[in-house]
Amino acid sequence: MPPTETTKRDYYEVLGVSKDATADVLKKAYRKMALQFHPDKNPGDSTAEEKFKEAANAYEVLSNAEKRARYDRFGHDAFKGGGGQSYQNVDDIFSNFSDIFGDFFSGGGFGGQTGGRRSRQTGPSRGADLRYRTEMSLEEVVTGLEKEIEFETDTNCDTCNGTGAKKGTSAATCGTCGGQGQVIARQGFFQVATTCPTCHGSGQQIKEKCEPCAGRGRMKAKRKIRVTIPAGVDTGTQLRVSNEGEGGYRGGPNGDLYVELQVRNHERFEREGSHLYSEMQISYLQAALGTEIEFENIDGKELVKVPPGTQPGARLRVQGRGIPILRSKGRGDLILAVDVTIPSKLSKDEEKLLRQIATDREVDVLPAKKGLFS
Ligand SMILES: [Zn+2]
Ligand SMILES: [Zn+2]
Repeated sequence: MPPTETTKRDYYEVLGVSKDATADVLKKAYRKMALQFHPDKNPGDSTAEEKFKEAANAYEVLSNAEKRARYDRFGHDAFKGGGGQSYQNVDDIFSNFSDIFGDFFSGGGFGGQTGGRRSRQTGPSRGADLRYRTEMSLEEVVTGLEKEIEFETDTNCDTCNGTGAKKGTSAATCGTCGGQGQVIARQGFFQVATTCPTCHGSGQQIKEKCEPCAGRGRMKAKRKIRVTIPAGVDTGTQLRVSNEGEGGYRGGPNGDLYVELQVRNHERFEREGSHLYSEMQISYLQAALGTEIEFENIDGKELVKVPPGTQPGARLRVQGRGIPILRSKGRGDLILAVDVTIPSKLSKDEEKLLRQIATDREVDVLPAKKGLFS
């Protein structure tokens, strides 16, 4: 079985920047996304809200030099033990990045209440996008394949519809925050709004927990889906499978699944785009006189024509026998580098003939060993 995993989307990809983006570029990219997916501009749009949070999480890590270095080395694993940030609550994003929002949203100044904001999150929202990495061989790239993939993800608890409260009971307003989902703390001169430690931002407190989900409102679910991988994909190709990501929250839609492909190296072929490169050995006689050679290609045998006078290192191109071009009928070329072998030992007859040719062409060669032609 090839190694597979599901992970969150790459932070650089989330912000649409390159891996070597400067702090300034990151900030601009994040601002742009935050503006685009700002909950005030997209009321009731849970997809926008998820994107808004995703961008905040990405920016949180990438804007911090130390966290960014860890992320570059270890990816999302860097924060498995904590230390990253996972914003579940939109208001926390406003209080943490107020310097960014302060510039373009009035009322979002540092430490201030994010006035006019929709408070706490209890409505439906979309599940996160997941990434599933899978390996395939070069042969499979040529043919394309159907693959069954299986993974586990979180989904809404249908018994309590994500509330976490036991069936027949309902959650009460949280006493700590009065249902606001956040509390205001003083830090020096500033007031800082943070997620309520009692209800974790939901604004509600559960008296009797839902049994199947133990009050979490979420359940583990196994997903088993068939993915059609078209011919011609390459390492890094992503296939989006709608609606197969993490389960939605409280009746919200599922996220999407991104299947990311990794093509294993081949021992005989190198790939460059849709072209395949390999080597072919021929003897000096075949190089000089020309020949036709049966070559074992990635998906069958090829009759390769070697013209007379072919030089060592020459490249022979077999058109249309490379890798299929993704979502097209075309196919790249097979390019063979010619390796000419010279015999390390000659038979007496061979040597005699070659010496004759050398004499005819007046080519200086070492003299024959004594006794050979006597
Ligand atoms: Zn439940
Ligand atoms: Zn609370």
